[in-house]
Amino acid sequence: MNIAIDGPAGAGKSTIAKIVSAKLGYIYVDTGAMFRAVAYNCAQLDIDPEDSDRIAAVSSESDISIKYVGDVQRVFLNGTDVTDHLRDEAVGNMASVVARIPEVRSILLDLQRKLARENDVVMDGRDIGTCVLPDAELKIYLTASSAVRAKRRYDELVAKGETPDIDVIEKDIIERDERDMNRDIAPLKQADDAVLVDSSYMTIDEVTDRIITLAREAGA
Ligand code: C5P
Repeated sequence: MNIAIDGPAGAGKSTIAKIVSAKLGYIYVDTGAMFRAVAYNCAQLDIDPEDSDRIAAVSSESDISIKYVGDVQRVFLNGTDVTDHLRDEAVGNMASVVARIPEVRSILLDLQRKLARENDVVMDGRDIGTCVLPDAELKIYLTASSAVRAKRRYDELVAKGETPDIDVIEKDIIERDERDMNRDIAPLKQADDAVLVDSSYMTIDEVTDRIITLAREAGA
């Protein structure tokens, strides 16, 4: 059984996917973390994010793999666990730049499909329902207004002791959405057979309950 959850940055996909996968006893696959690992690799090697040829070459020589510690996904880059370096806003923004490169997408596509073939998964990303798992038994398109998404990011950063500017966060989110929605390859869009869930005015419990209900109806 495969459940795909797509949507724009900050819509709550990973929070919801973690809870849903735990409730169903499935594996949670965070595909954004894979693109973030590519971006992190480029930053470490001081590669210009716009240098697509070099990024494609370096990515084909790098080994990105996923392991589960309990039910927590860890991302390994050339054998080193880099998971704790991937959540920064800067890494996320750079991930959406490298995610436009066909070679990068193709390497990660193989890894994503393999995980879905071998396990019951809840997989979140941008192109899971449209491209990675077109036959997923359940597809969700999870969204929220950019103002709500920015406020959620802002609250998360404040809780970590940071002092972010909410306007900058919202501007970055809108820019990232535009890059993700308008790229040539595997752009972010709602699959024809995906269920739209707008979480702007829903609690985490409400969103989770809705998806679990849909998953049960789909055979989970
Ligand atoms: O979801 P997350 O914010 O971690 O994703 C980081 C970036 O990786 C996204 O903005 C997007 O450009 C890219 N991505 C993608 N396809 C996916 C998952 C993420 O292009 N399936």
